[in-house]
Amino acid sequence: MHELSIARSIVETVCERAGDRPVHTVTVRVGALTAVVPDALRFCFALAVEGTVADGARLAVEHRPGTLRCRRCGTDARIDDPILLCPCGSADVAVIAGRELQIVSMEVG
Ligand SMILES: [Zn+2]
Repeated sequence: MHELSIARSIVETVCERAGDRPVHTVTVRVGALTAVVPDALRFCFALAVEGTVADGARLAVEHRPGTLRCRRCGTDARIDDPILLCPCGSADVAVIAGRELQIVSMEVG
């Protein structure tokens, strides 16, 4: 369950930035290819914030689809799972988007 360690590092970063102000909402961007399950991340976040200035904060998850560029047929394909295959059947692909895992914003005070 890597969501727990991800949630912990998000909370750590958020608390560092917040100082002693309470945190209400944290928005993160999660790419489809990170294999992070949003519900699991929210659950782990709720555990990780306990006893911190972000206790009770809401985690909003912005989902980003994955995009591949195929080196064989040259098309950009949208994919939503971590299996890196172009619809043409080629695995010779470059990931353009979908590996994002970042804090977009936070509401404090
Ligand atoms: Zn292709």
